[in-house]
Amino acid sequence: MTDITPTDPESEQAAGRVPLWLDPADIRWISRHCCCPPDASQEERDRCGRIRFRASNALYKHGHGR
Ligand SMILES: [Zn+2]
Repeated sequence: MTDITPTDPESEQAAGRVPLWLDPADIRWISRHCCCPPDASQEERDRCGRIRFRASNALYKHGHGR
């Protein structure tokens, strides 16, 4: 697996990110749930994709893979 996302706590924090603790089932739901309306802007779609990618990455890292 190639990890293209830096996930060590210090660099995440330096990037202004905050931890989000969720049950694996909730994260799995997010990773599979696209809620973009048909007329969503590219920015919305990018954000949605980013969040879902992060969610599935988190599951994978903690042994709850797809
Ligand atoms: Zn979406």
